[in-house]
Amino acid sequence: MRSSIYLTLAAIVASVATAAPFHKRSPAPVYRECSSPGTFALTFDDGPYQFSWDLAKSLHSQGIPATFFVNGKNWINVETDSVSTSDGTKTYMEVLKNFDDLGHQVASHTYEHKQLGGLSSAEVEYQMNTNADIIERAIGKRPTFMRPPAGEYDDSTLEVLGALNYHVIMWDLDSLDWATHSLPDEQQHYETLMGGESGSSGTGHISLQHEVYQQTVDEFVPWIIEYVKSKNYRFVTVAECIGVSSGYA
Ligand SMILES: [Zn+2]
Repeated sequence: MRSSIYLTLAAIVASVATAAPFHKRSPAPVYRECSSPGTFALTFDDGPYQFSWDLAKSLHSQGIPATFFVNGKNWINVETDSVSTSDGTKTYMEVLKNFDDLGHQVASHTYEHKQLGGLSSAEVEYQMNTNADIIERAIGKRPTFMRPPAGEYDDSTLEVLGALNYHVIMWDLDSLDWATHSLPDEQQHYETLMGGESGSSGTGHISLQHEVYQQTVDEFVPWIIEYVKSKNYRFVTVAECIGVSSGYA
């Protein structure tokens, strides 16, 4: 008698599992810090922009890989605009290619910097797929890492991003580089966030900057690099920081 009850229960469980909708996917995983101790992921949002080419070059020359969360159409239109760089005039498609060529990671920040919470599934898919198409044309591969504009999303957003196989990358160090553009303010804020740490223990960090501000690129980033090095952190891409192999489909 008992065994037949178990058999009946097993049949019910099996039928419920079979009845579950096949299109239902797990929500996209959300990451807020590096899983490897002593690692530091320098990340930039809202580009590319006029400073991007030479920022990528400068970081590369210092042996520092960064991760760029790019928009197709935000400060510029990646598909149609060009920019003057230290290597001559480049299209923004070439700027994206240069990120990848120099060992930086290219990730998505949506096509038009749309805040995703409250949008329909079709709108979220449009923002992600349009941007992935542009990135694929530029670098030959589609990103699987994304950062939602303003860090804003809801449960429905994560369901759609999960179905599209994205990893959602937030941050634990917000540089506030958009706020005052005053280096002393920025230094004080960063030191408060990281004060007392050596990088030898605990989790690593994901920091948030914006390459669209000249003061960030010219003043703040060079200072951040020296400060983070003084704490004995190692700079890595976000893929390495969270222990995922590539960050591309
Ligand atoms: Zn943004």
